[in-house]
Amino acid sequence: MKDIQYSHHAETVALRVAGKTRADSWSAYSWRLVRVGCEVGVAEHRILTRGPNKGRRRWEKAGQLTVVTNEEVHAEAERYEREERRCALCLGEKHEFKRVSQNGTEYKTCRRCNGTGAPPGEPALPDEVPSAEQADLFGGAP
Ligand SMILES: [Zn+2]
Repeated sequence: MKDIQYSHHAETVALRVAGKTRADSWSAYSWRLVRVGCEVGVAEHRILTRGPNKGRRRWEKAGQLTVVTNEEVHAEAERYEREERRCALCLGEKHEFKRVSQNGTEYKTCRRCNGTGAPPGEPALPDEVPSAEQADLFGGAP
């Protein structure tokens, strides 16, 4: 499995090692490529509610550094598709990042699921289903 959202799945593995999830307001604050994969730092964050950086995350304290191997990232991507039933590249968003231009962020149809949002070979996801990420932001999936 080559076309996956590497950083998302690497973050998931690092959070699991730390015994946390995104619903705990934990997320990755640092990334460093190493020979076997990447070293990911995860810690608790809060969302700034005012000031020029409103809406951004600020990490509360020193977190935990974990080396995540490429094999672990790919295994997590496979688990994600099997259990979440979402495409491991676009995370069910149906599109992937193309570029940032003066018009803002541009997206293109996801090349892994061809815009269905589902794992390859499975029926397309319906529209308007919030992704796990969005559900996290609003208090966790039901
Ligand atoms: Zn996709």
